[in-house]
Amino acid sequence: MGMYDHIVGVCPSCGGELYGQTKGGDCCMNTYWVSEEMYSHEAYVVNGEDLDCRKCGKTYIVRTEESRMVRVSLEELKPKNET
Ligand SMILES: [Zn+2]
Repeated sequence: MGMYDHIVGVCPSCGGELYGQTKGGDCCMNTYWVSEEMYSHEAYVVNGEDLDCRKCGKTYIVRTEESRMVRVSLEELKPKNET
């Protein structure tokens, strides 16, 4: 019996649990949670894998969009007190 990692998520159709397996990771029975924002190293592991809904039976494929956009925020620089 080979080792694999678990993939879980929420079904967009019925809110049930999506479940799949992958051999793309290090296969130490890790669990990957699929969500709209994932760490890139985890997203690449689950990309293209099938997930089946345990409630309604629909099958979804994970599609990862590569993005070079980086979240940026502005932090106000407080003027130094020169008294
Ligand atoms: Zn479902």
